[in-house]
Amino acid sequence: MSEFTKREFLKTTTLLGVAAIPASAVAVEHTADSQTVPLPTDLQDERFVSESGWNLSSQVIHHGEQQGYQVTPISQDKCVPAYQRPGNLRNPTVAALLKKVMELEGTEAAVGGPCGMGVISQAYMGLLKPGDRVVAHRCNYDWVMTLFRDYLPSWGVEVELLDFNDPEILRKSLQRKPATMVHWEPYVNPTMEVLDTPSLIQISKDAGSIVVVDNTWLTPYLLQPARIGADIVIHSVTKYMGGHGNAMGGVATGSSFLVDRIERAQNWLGGLLRPMDAFLVTQGVKTLPLRMEQHSRSAQQVAEFLESHSAVARVRYGGISSWNKLDNSPQGFGGMLGIEWQTEKVQQTVGRHTQLILNATSLGDPVTRITPRNEEKDRGIPRNYSRVSIGLEDPRDLIADFTQAIEKCG
Ligand code: PLP
Repeated sequence: MSEFTKREFLKTTTLLGVAAIPASAVAVEHTADSQTVPLPTDLQDERFVSESGWNLSSQVIHHGEQQGYQVTPISQDKCVPAYQRPGNLRNPTVAALLKKVMELEGTEAAVGGPCGMGVISQAYMGLLKPGDRVVAHRCNYDWVMTLFRDYLPSWGVEVELLDFNDPEILRKSLQRKPATMVHWEPYVNPTMEVLDTPSLIQISKDAGSIVVVDNTWLTPYLLQPARIGADIVIHSVTKYMGGHGNAMGGVATGSSFLVDRIERAQNWLGGLLRPMDAFLVTQGVKTLPLRMEQHSRSAQQVAEFLESHSAVARVRYGGISSWNKLDNSPQGFGGMLGIEWQTEKVQQTVGRHTQLILNATSLGDPVTRITPRNEEKDRGIPRNYSRVSIGLEDPRDLIADFTQAIEKCG
């Protein structure tokens, strides 16, 4: 096991009611007189260092809002207080979201991009140069795989894809040849592998690599990778952070030194987190703890039901002990689960018969979705597999919908 014990890991994983932050650390910003509306220039070039003194459920509601407002207004002005590229803290509406993300993840800087992939590609363009080397888990979100398999190699960046389920494989690779950057998703899209993030961070840092963790699926409610050493944490805020399926955006957060380099790349690449999207995501973030609790509870119930169903060969969900055997896991996994069906027929047709559950892609919002996936052995995606994003409907209705749809598959 890694040097991180389960207790140490959980100390870094702020769950409702257990965060231990001294009340004396309350930042002045939060105690501001609610009548005082600051000039836009007050917001310029602010670098917020975390530790508001509040627990996470309070942070998501109060932190980062423009002084004098409980809901930061949408500012569409492209030039006030300064030209809006790069998409950093200049725009008050975008700033409200970025400051919340920094506070939740415990980081000192953040940059917003137009979507998750937008900010990921900006981060890689900003932080890498020809001759660099990236080591990543063998499976990531599909378009990140395209970046790793096609684009980075064509730009002269070496990419090695390894099975991070065994952290020693990463250690050996980095001993053989150092890497500029190591990348993974703690709860992997779409395989549902639960990676030992504390051990992987430790190994990568020991080898001097920049650690990039895509925390889109777990969110800072369930895991805060920067607090245990990750250098850059990525979010597609299109998903759980926004949580309502009505906005797109991406955030990269970490040290000022690295985020500045991503912002520089954004200046010539373009692609900003827009105020309207930031506004919508900010309202979503305020209910993140409640939503993640419910996604996790419902997914657990549905996973346990499916596990006992004769049409199912195996359920992949972080909360199922037959699937996740890590002892330093997060304490919840949100709504993402995988189903290995007994037959291809059910895998191919079940989504045509569901009534409540949408047969569609995307994830992390109130609507439950099922997406069939083709087998990809090199990524660990099994045959007869479906990815499911459990939404916020009543889990009893989801179980009933699965039951009737499976029956109709014959
Ligand atoms: N990272 C992960 C883990 C994802 O699941 C996704 C999309 O599903 C992305 C990044 C890309 O996000 P976006 O659709 O906002 O570009």
